[in-house]
Amino acid sequence: MTQTSWGYSKENGPDRWHESYPIAKGNNQSPVAILTKDVYKDPILLPWFTSYDPGAAKNILNNGRTVRVAFDDTFDRSVLRGGPLQGIYRLRQLHIHWGSTDDRGSEHVVDLTRHAGEIHIVHWSTKYSNYGDALKKPDGVAVLAILLQVGKTLKPEMKRIVEEIDAIKTKGKEAPFPNFDPSILFPQNRSYFTYQGSFTTPPCEECVTWIIMKEPIIVSADQMAKLRSLSSKTADELHCPLVDNWRPLQPLNNRMIRSPCQ
Ligand SMILES: [Zn+2]
Repeated sequence: MTQTSWGYSKENGPDRWHESYPIAKGNNQSPVAILTKDVYKDPILLPWFTSYDPGAAKNILNNGRTVRVAFDDTFDRSVLRGGPLQGIYRLRQLHIHWGSTDDRGSEHVVDLTRHAGEIHIVHWSTKYSNYGDALKKPDGVAVLAILLQVGKTLKPEMKRIVEEIDAIKTKGKEAPFPNFDPSILFPQNRSYFTYQGSFTTPPCEECVTWIIMKEPIIVSADQMAKLRSLSSKTADELHCPLVDNWRPLQPLNNRMIRSPCQ
C-alpha cells in the first residue's frame, strides 16, 4: 500500500494499513471508546483557548478521503493553548469523518454512542521547527475533535463548509476558502475528554494530544446528505460516494482518559 493507495475499502482499509504503516498496530492508537465512568477527573486540567485569525483560511479540498480546509501556519496567527497542553499549538488544517447513514461516522465513541460524524481541527506545537518535525514527537500535535449529531434545529455552524461542497464534488478538486474562523464550529460547552493517541489515518503517527468536546454540535440530515454526495473518485472516473471514512476503535491499553473537574 502506498501513500496514494490507502483507503477505507476491504482491499485498502483500516485492517490492512499496518502492512505499509506498522505503527498502525502501536500501543497508542486512535480512536478509542470513552466510558464516562472510567474517565479520571483531573484537578490539574485547565480550560483551553483558541485565538483564530479568519484570514488564515486558505482553501478547501476533496482529497478522495475527506474534505479538508487548509490554514496558513507560517506564523502564530491562529493558535490553540491551555487544556492539557504545554505551550502554543498552531492551526494547520481541519477535516471531517462521516458515515453512510446517520448512525455511524464518528471515530471516538462516548458511552457506546457513535455519532454521525466528527470534525478534527489539527494543530502543531511551535516548540518544533515545522509540522514534519512535530509529527515525530509524542506532544507534537493537538487535535480538537467535535462530534456531529443529526437534529432538527437548524444550526449555522456547518453552513460555510457545506455550501462549498458543490465546488469540490470530485477527488482532487480544490476551491478558495477565504475568511473562515473554525471557532464557529465549537459547541457552547467547552468541557472535554483528553488522552494521548495517534492520527486516525495513515501513517497513524503517535503524536496526538486529543481534546474531544463532550457536547456534540447539531447538524441537519440535509447537511450530512450533502457530505455524502462527494465522490471519492476523480471527475474522469465513475462516481463513488465518499462515505464511511472513519477508522474503527483501537485498544486503549494502559492509557488514561482525563477530563477537567468543573
Ligand atoms: Zn481525522
